[in-house]
Amino acid sequence: MFTIGAECSRCGEVYPPDNILTVCPKCGGAFLFQYDLAKVAGKVSKRDLENREDTFWKFRELLPLSSPNNIVSLGEPYTPILQFQRGNKAVSKSF
Ligand SMILES: [Zn+2]
Repeated sequence: MFTIGAECSRCGEVYPPDNILTVCPKCGGAFLFQYDLAKVAGKVSKRDLENREDTFWKFRELLPLSSPNNIVSLGEPYTPILQFQRGNKAVSKSF
């Protein structure tokens, strides 16, 4: 797991990543997750990401997941990035 903490966006309290709550118990603020990005970069390359299925779990290293064995999926898709052009015509663009 590359999540190193969950910081409350209101009061700044930091919680351990292995006990994820929905909101801060002190003030009800939303969490901002903190990651060890250097560790992620050493483990996952851009090519790795390109070769993965376009699902929600494509960026699993940036989710508070302790083991890939804990992934539960109902086939939720990956949200594509769309480029809008004049005339409201959306063009799909892969990155
Ligand atoms: Zn808080």
